[in-house]
Amino acid sequence: MSGAEHFDVLIVGAGISGIGAAWHLQRQCPGKRYVVLESQAGFGGTWRTHRYPGIRSDSDLFTFGYRFKPWMGPPIASAAEILAYLGEVIDENGLAPHIRYQHGIGSAGWSSEQRRWTITAIRPGADGQAETVQITAGFLWMCQGYYRHSEGFTPDWPGMARFGGRIVHPQTWPDDLDLAAKQVVVIGSGATAATLIPAIADQCAHVTMLQRSPTFFITGRNANELADMLRQLEIPSEWTHEIVRRKVLFDQAAFTRRCRAEPEVVRQELLAGVRAALGPGFEDQVQQHFNPRYRPWQQRIAFVPDADLFKAVRSGQASVVTDQIETFTETGIQLASGQLLEADIVVTATGFELNVLGDIAISVDGRPLDFAGTVAWRGTMFTDLPNLAWVFGYFRASWTLRADLLGDFVCRLLKHMDRRGATVVVPELRPQDEGMALGPWVDPDNFNPGYISRGVARLPKQGDHAPWLHSQDYWTEKDELPAADLDDGSLVYR
Ligand SMILES: Cc1cc2nc3c(=O)[nH]c(=O)nc-3n(C[C@H](O)[C@H](O)[C@H](O)COP(=O)(O)OP(=O)(O)OC[C@H]3O[C@@H](n4cnc5c(N)ncnc54)[C@H](O)[C@@H]3O)c2cc1C
Repeated sequence: MSGAEHFDVLIVGAGISGIGAAWHLQRQCPGKRYVVLESQAGFGGTWRTHRYPGIRSDSDLFTFGYRFKPWMGPPIASAAEILAYLGEVIDENGLAPHIRYQHGIGSAGWSSEQRRWTITAIRPGADGQAETVQITAGFLWMCQGYYRHSEGFTPDWPGMARFGGRIVHPQTWPDDLDLAAKQVVVIGSGATAATLIPAIADQCAHVTMLQRSPTFFITGRNANELADMLRQLEIPSEWTHEIVRRKVLFDQAAFTRRCRAEPEVVRQELLAGVRAALGPGFEDQVQQHFNPRYRPWQQRIAFVPDADLFKAVRSGQASVVTDQIETFTETGIQLASGQLLEADIVVTATGFELNVLGDIAISVDGRPLDFAGTVAWRGTMFTDLPNLAWVFGYFRASWTLRADLLGDFVCRLLKHMDRRGATVVVPELRPQDEGMALGPWVDPDNFNPGYISRGVARLPKQGDHAPWLHSQDYWTEKDELPAADLDDGSLVYR
């Protein structure tokens, strides 16, 4: 495309991953011209989109923060605190001039002849009307996350249309929602429900957490003793950040090992935590509502800082029901057990709608991409898809740990290409990989949240040996990715 502005690298999205990518690129490949295109009017991604009461991280910010910028607050942070931290990263490193907001990318086409991507984005024009802009780029660094930001996932339950109250998804929380004196039912039992319920419990008449099945929760103070001690000793913040990161990761690795080795012991410990937080008189509830069928760590364990969810239950302002929805009625929800839950407002904390590659129509030499037909190279690049890497973070460990590792990786790859005089890199199965068994993007026995189960058919496959595995394991990748052989024949350069 002649006349279009050209960049060496185009980063899609200005969330945690995109801002991190810009930082790494600027630091490690200072000669590269880059731009970040973001469809929203500001940075932050997840932390800008989600505005429901109480919105906070459930990872600690020592590891959910970047490795290069010390986290100075308590471990669990609100969305506002995370946005402030990201804003500082942008300001302190002069990233702002590189970010273009309100640029929603609709399509990206690779041309083998021109050895570049042509990206088409929609942005507001000077006259207020939407206008189309084309930009070309040598490399696409996909930091668009994994779910659709415009709307969350709400199952289609019978009778929803006749419900007389309001149905709200936390992802699109209305500013005008008045909870005073309302009976609220929150459907779901994950981190979102656990965050939202204590935040609204004293604003409404009563809030019920309606779950199909229980989730594991872990409670603790929103404080890190080691960090507090190091800060008291006036240790430089960079050291404190690094030491506390290592300690958090060490503890998490030990905990993950124990979950595998002695799941029943860990289960009893987690239940003991819930029991202690609820106090006497709640034993039936512990067994019925907080004792999951699955093994600890098979799904993410939601952290409840300062036991706030359990305090709300103990106070009577919140309660938990474990049951199946039969139908919505005019005034509430009819459950399979026969119970009717009266509700003025139903909040569907039922998860996300997976969106593949930011809903961008991607083509290679004019052919629409069949993403599910590709095989992932270390869960970040894809066969038949040149000059593109996707930052898909960790789920058990903090997302950002992988965003940082992939920041190093992409920069190393770009420098390697320059040294080789290559302008194209694409993963290709080698003769020894032909006929390799292919499996789903993530192993369902290892991790199976709803949005992945619902969308896995649209995601790439992984192989059964390196470099085609997508292990989702920080503790192996932290050593393997930096050492990955870029010349083992699985990456083809032109
Ligand atoms: C409520 C909630 C809490 C979470 N808490 C944690 C946690 O505690 N720890 C953890 O590890 N993970 C957590 N996660 C997962 C979380 O999404 C990631 O950790 C992280 O924030 C993802 O960052 P990202 O930049 O990769 O993607 P996102 O935050 O999804 O940002 C992607 C950005 O790309 C933009 N974009 C997408 N498509 C396009 C397009 N076509 N054109 C232009 N721009 C586009 C979006 O507008 C968005 O700004 C949480 C997720 C949610 C929803």
